[in-house]
Amino acid sequence: MSDCLFCRIVAGEIPADVVLSTDEVLAFRDIDPKAPVHVLVVPREHFANIHELAIAAPSLTSSLIAAAADVAESEGVADAYRLVFNTGAQVGQSVFHVHGHILGGRDFTWPPG
Ligand code: 5GP
Ligand code: ZN
Repeated sequence: MSDCLFCRIVAGEIPADVVLSTDEVLAFRDIDPKAPVHVLVVPREHFANIHELAIAAPSLTSSLIAAAADVAESEGVADAYRLVFNTGAQVGQSVFHVHGHILGGRDFTWPPG
């Protein structure tokens, strides 16, 4: 998908701050971080969202979530982090190549504390 931003990052055509790379998965820092740790984890293969990926490729889905856990470990947030997959523009998905947001390093509870 030459017009897909994250396919282009996977292909190395657009630079990214990569924190994990395997034959199936790439993880890189979000360009506009919403927390001290904000890493995106994507499969190298293009799927539009986690729903399509989970139905079409359960083994790759498992690899993606395992990679997110590895990133949480290496980023030092394994004790407390969010793993978020937005599915559909209506809930805020803006890049239509499946990506998990690994968010940590701050308090996400409301009210904080
Ligand atoms: P979504 O809104 O689709 O769930 O998340 C898309 C994420 O991609 C956003 O958090 C946004 O900051 C991030 N993003 C958009 N463009 C780029 C880019 O060129 N490089 C990186 N590293 N992240 C990006
Ligand atoms: Zn893509």
